[in-house]
Amino acid sequence: MAKLLTGKRVPDKITNELKIEVKDLKDKEIFPKLSILRVGSNPSDLAYERGSLKRMKKCGINTEVLEFSEDINQKDFLKKLEEVNKDKEVHGILIFRPLPKQLNEEEIKYFISPEKDVDCLSTINIGKVTEGDKTGFPPATSAAVIEMLKYYDISLEGKNAVVLGRSLVVGKPLSMLLLGENATTTICHSRTRNLKEISKNADILVTAVGKAKMVNKNYVSKNSIVLDVGINVDNDGKLCGDVNFEECKDICSMITPVPRGVGSVTTSVLAKHVIKATKLLKNIEL
Ligand code: NAP
Repeated sequence: MAKLLTGKRVPDKITNELKIEVKDLKDKEIFPKLSILRVGSNPSDLAYERGSLKRMKKCGINTEVLEFSEDINQKDFLKKLEEVNKDKEVHGILIFRPLPKQLNEEEIKYFISPEKDVDCLSTINIGKVTEGDKTGFPPATSAAVIEMLKYYDISLEGKNAVVLGRSLVVGKPLSMLLLGENATTTICHSRTRNLKEISKNADILVTAVGKAKMVNKNYVSKNSIVLDVGINVDNDGKLCGDVNFEECKDICSMITPVPRGVGSVTTSVLAKHVIKATKLLKNIEL
């Protein structure tokens, strides 16, 4: 059986570190605050919101949730976003995506203050992640993969890392982060040829395709360290990843489960980003 890389203890470690930073900030009369902008009541947004609120509370970060009706128009949404952009009490902004069709995400991503954009909606932050500029904010999920690898002391230097998926939310920024850690990184997608062979040769295989149990025993070897970012529902209606865990767990060397894997680290990374944003906005050294 492969070593199980659970996300269980990683958030606790990050939270304990953040509590100290939050105390230092509060001693300086600075009170970190996250503003969540939610349009409608999508169940997955609500679940992520609950998880985020719980995590921020544990870290000592203030939060507010601005809830908008499903049919809010672009003008009204931008007006509210401008208020949050300008609010000196707010240091981080999280907007749940995808947004309803009447809202123009292209315009919103250039409108959100990049300094407060803690989940990488802004093109500025994608650019910073690509440049390796540490003042940028990668999407929390992609940064969670790196946190997992660091927590388990898995070195990336010179390793062959393969990422399945090239979305702006996970695959692309994650590939840049792996490259930044000196891994030799290959990005695969739906048109990639020889996907199984490329995957099988990876030292680190990260899956973000959104296809339930697609990655089976033919994609892994005894050397593979597999991190599953996928959150899907299988034929029996159960939550599962992109990896066929049952098939792969006895072949590869390490593997993350779904649930209780990478996904459980995301909200603590978000908290980390709020503290980073607070410090940058207040000109405090990171
Ligand atoms: P997405 O935007 O749909 O992107 C999926 C990517 O996978 C695309 O690049 C696509 O290639 C590629 N792909 C699809 N089918 C493939 C195949 N058969 N072979 C190889 N590549 C294939 O999805 P996403 O937003 O990145 O999310 C991916 C997964 O991560 C989902 O399950 C999502 O729920 C999960 N997720 C988890 C978290 C978390 O907190 N853990 C956060 C965000 C997302 P093309 O570009 O060629 O279409």
